[in-house]
Amino acid sequence: MNFDLTEEHRQIRATVANFAEREIKPHCAAWDRTEHFPRGVIEKIGELGFLGVSFPERFGGGGADTLSQALVVEGLSRCDASVGLTCAAHMSLSSGHIANFASDEHRDRYLPDMIAGRKLGAWCLTEPNSGSDAAAMRTRAVRAGDRYKISGTKMFITNGSVADVYVVMAVTDAESRKAGISAFIVDRGAPGLSNGRKIEKLGLRASDTAEVIFDNVAVPAGNMIGNAGEGYTQTLRILEGGRIGIAAFAIGIARGAFEEAAAYAKERRQFGRPIADLQAIQWMLADMATRIEASWMLLYRAAALKDKGRPFGRQAAMAKLYASETAMWTTIKAVQIHGGYGYVTDFPMERYMRDAKLAEIGEGTSEVQRMIIAKSLLREGYPLE
Ligand SMILES: Cc1cc2nc3c(=O)[nH]c(=O)nc-3n(C[C@H](O)[C@H](O)[C@H](O)COP(=O)(O)OP(=O)(O)OC[C@H]3O[C@@H](n4cnc5c(N)ncnc54)[C@H](O)[C@@H]3O)c2cc1C
Repeated sequence: MNFDLTEEHRQIRATVANFAEREIKPHCAAWDRTEHFPRGVIEKIGELGFLGVSFPERFGGGGADTLSQALVVEGLSRCDASVGLTCAAHMSLSSGHIANFASDEHRDRYLPDMIAGRKLGAWCLTEPNSGSDAAAMRTRAVRAGDRYKISGTKMFITNGSVADVYVVMAVTDAESRKAGISAFIVDRGAPGLSNGRKIEKLGLRASDTAEVIFDNVAVPAGNMIGNAGEGYTQTLRILEGGRIGIAAFAIGIARGAFEEAAAYAKERRQFGRPIADLQAIQWMLADMATRIEASWMLLYRAAALKDKGRPFGRQAAMAKLYASETAMWTTIKAVQIHGGYGYVTDFPMERYMRDAKLAEIGEGTSEVQRMIIAKSLLREGYPLE
């Protein structure tokens, strides 16, 4: 067992931190306030190679391990969770779906541009009436000669109004329920593809979240990813990997909030001494750091199992669950340590707290993670190593 980051990991972490401090931190409060989507910054992250760090080299990726991608997401989210989520969704969901399941032709066509940040991806599963119960989706893809025609509405889609490439789950055989769902690639600009109303959010206001409407969108039959009926199992696999990304996103938020709170506690004086001297504050900082470190351990393990090709679904769910709740808890405590200054927009604490909430909801709510963990334990026994 080795708990040390490799030299490559350290370098990724340092480069991302450097970039984020320089290119993101000075602007993120304004982006949040004005709901500005920083497309140029996402492109720069692509140019630096960070959108493809764990993707195969033959598509322009870095060929590194899963932890490397997690370090990128964590480092970005530490400064600006909106940028972190944009990149996590692009890499783990849309690019990841194409890399894992699409034909060589499609991988060659899409991945180099997606990895370089020239094209942005969106992954469309959720609908207005189907979230946790994703298999209840109503979007249909009907075969018409050598094409499929897709109709339906997708909800809460990250990068939904700014993406160039959409991976869309749709029902191709209503009788077969889960086994009747298939995945398709749809290009931006396809006739019938549009966005609904703008979705205003509690947090992550600089990330793009949109309704995506498919009105008889025709795609070549070859744009199906894998075979008919494989979309749901592909989705479960992608979500397993995505949860490692959301755990990293949550850890980044928690770490950013912790660092700000620790620095503030040393500076802020009350009763003639820094509040960091008060045991009440020290205990909060100690609990924050302990939970962050425990989240990392869960993430390391899930990432290591994934890279070894072993089952990692339960561990990824545990990492996502624990890291999300850590992010929420830590940011609430970070606001508390800042007192009144934590509650106002002059300091980043209230933004960290608003952003953290999504981690407990997106890519499977905390309740769904507990359901996955419990099902796995009851099915496979309790082999805690
Ligand atoms: C900012 C943002 C970005 C997102 N990005 C994407 C994206 O890129 N692509 C995409 O496809 N989706 C995306 N989503 C959607 C997200 O994955 C869903 O919101 C999430 O899966 C929950 O679904 P829901 O909102 O329909 O809630 P529901 O499923 O309606 O859940 C409501 C409540 O009921 C609970 N619940 C539901 N079923 C159970 C159960 N069986 N047992 C116990 N409790 C249960 C839930 O935990 C929750 O508390 C995004 C959402 C947000 C807010």
